[in-house]
Amino acid sequence: ATAVSLALALTACGQNSDGGSEDKKGSSEGATIGIAMPTKSSERWIADGNNVVKNLEDKGYKTKLVFGEDEPDQQVSQIENMITQGVDALIVAAIDNKSLNNVLQQAADADIPVISYDRLILGTENVDYYASFDNEKVGELQGTYIAQQLGLADGSKKGPFNIELFAGSNDDNNTRYFFQGAMNVLQPYIDKKQLVVRSGQTELTQVTTLRWDGATAQRRMDDILTKSYKSAKVDAVLSPYDGISIGILSALKSDGYGTASKPLPVITGQDAEVASVKSIIAGDQSMTVYKDLRQLAKVASDMVDALLNDKKPEVNDTKTYDNGSKVVPAYLLEPVAVNKDNYKKALVDSGYYKESDLK
Ligand code: BGC
Repeated sequence: ATAVSLALALTACGQNSDGGSEDKKGSSEGATIGIAMPTKSSERWIADGNNVVKNLEDKGYKTKLVFGEDEPDQQVSQIENMITQGVDALIVAAIDNKSLNNVLQQAADADIPVISYDRLILGTENVDYYASFDNEKVGELQGTYIAQQLGLADGSKKGPFNIELFAGSNDDNNTRYFFQGAMNVLQPYIDKKQLVVRSGQTELTQVTTLRWDGATAQRRMDDILTKSYKSAKVDAVLSPYDGISIGILSALKSDGYGTASKPLPVITGQDAEVASVKSIIAGDQSMTVYKDLRQLAKVASDMVDALLNDKKPEVNDTKTYDNGSKVVPAYLLEPVAVNKDNYKKALVDSGYYKESDLK
């Protein structure tokens, strides 16, 4: 009788009598996970939100999913609300990586573990794990593609070629990793004058795009074309994100690019968003960096599940991501360069998109 009642008591709090090793839900049964995504203005974050919810629900969790409108204050109050509502863990893709210190202190005071999702949250001890992609590699793939397409990488062309540089939002920690990765490849060509930045805007602080906004990038490209390309042609544009690439392409087309005598430059991107994959198929955008968001959602959900069951989440990087207060243990996934030649294999055969999505 004692054994039976013990087993019942343990089952009631979600544990098996053998210590819980066979109970997938363990002590986490019935737990609610708060998920804060930055914006609905880019399709990737909507997919991220849905994927994370699905993964967690499959594991038996309840979820609360919120989206900021790229407004840091709004995200802070959304997270505050979820803490008040008593969530058991938080998964956060920050809008402004430095704005969350106070609210994450509240989370820590309430013993709520925090996973930094895709973007590292800076300046606080109260981030437990980081789930992301190899962000420097993203930039390297973009830079490498440009060097290859221009014929610089294999030495078949010497240039000089004109390039303009764009980076992401200055309040997103990923921005400097993407830019650094790209410049690791491009800077040697700039030093040898095989690549020339006619606008003279080469520092990260000169080339960021607040909140990754395509219209902002379009205005900057318009301005650069007017001021620096009256008598010259742009051969390549480093763009960190598909939404920015689309803005840049609009500026270029308004300036007469996209014809046989004035072809579009090589232009990069990131996220494999549908509009950009279509643009790649049509021959406008040159490439994008595909990050399989299904895998990212799984990694983040597994981390939460481990933490709530007193297990150690799996990580594969414990040295790169210093947030100013600590090095946050991370699991980093591999990004993949995608262009016209391999989009079918990478995006369709993998089930990420249906062929009909891209028509
Ligand atoms: C993400 C990118 C995304 C960008 C804009 C970055 O933090 O890593 O995938 O393109 O934000 O949303």
